[in-house]
Amino acid sequence: MSNTLPAGWQARPGCLNDKILLVTGAGDGIGRACALAFAKLGATVVLLGRTQDKLEAVYDQIKRDGGKEPAMVPLNLAATTPVEYAQLADMLDTEFHRLDGIVHCAAVLGDITPMELYSAETWSQVMRVNLDAPVFLTQAMLPLLKASPSASVVFTSSSVGRKGRAFWGAYAVSKAGIESVTQVLADEMEHLGTLRFNAVNPGATRTTMRAKAYPAENPLTLKTPDEIVPLFTWLVSDDSRAVNGQSLDAQPKP
Ligand code: NDP
Repeated sequence: MSNTLPAGWQARPGCLNDKILLVTGAGDGIGRACALAFAKLGATVVLLGRTQDKLEAVYDQIKRDGGKEPAMVPLNLAATTPVEYAQLADMLDTEFHRLDGIVHCAAVLGDITPMELYSAETWSQVMRVNLDAPVFLTQAMLPLLKASPSASVVFTSSSVGRKGRAFWGAYAVSKAGIESVTQVLADEMEHLGTLRFNAVNPGATRTTMRAKAYPAENPLTLKTPDEIVPLFTWLVSDDSRAVNGQSLDAQPKP
């Protein structure tokens, strides 16, 4: 299997019509682009993010585009407790009775600095947002995901999660953890035949995080979030039903 979007694949209008999809980091960057694209294709989107104003702007845009009424969940993933994840699951159960997918986009960069100097406080914060939150949010959602006839969870990885790189510290380690979490969950749930887990490395993409990591780079040389969203769309659609436990690239090297 190729580890990217199948050549020529395009989303059919309405292909996500019956889907309830939770997107984290939905207020900005790649998560925002995913939320808007999924809603345009008919999904009901649950927008989870840290900043209420940003979520409201995405909510308004979805309504302007004629999408289904989204749900908004302002949550700071650096501080969310298992009890709060369980409360969110209860809320979604009451509202929707199932979940057909999660796209985990929320993440922080932390410091770009040698391991020797890495601050313990920043390390913990990066691990909480980038690794613990996707794990425990997914764990809390498992009953709802199992209630779906066809559910897909997409984690967001990075090239430094596949091969560690000097100075990328906690971010690299958190993304290596995400690759592993994807494989463990995919293996554990494969027997169900209705729930799958994959990881995507977006590649260099024009967002706030990328600008923070590479301040001297010309952002106009980078793909926009909208340009890389089709891989995420394919993964949450039923067209990728056979794909489980894979690590995919939105911008594969030629
Ligand atoms: P952005 O910084 O543009 O967006 C990150 C999102 O995560 C924001 O919406 C932010 O909310 C949210 N977020 C951050 N911290 C928290 C928190 N504590 N609680 C809730 N939400 C939070 O990043 P990208 O869109 O670039 O990144 C998306 C994913 O892609 C990430 O997992 C990233 O690691 C990965 N990635 C990105 C690459 C790139 O080149 N852009 C390359 C490789 C991987 P708010 O805006 O409110 O702070």
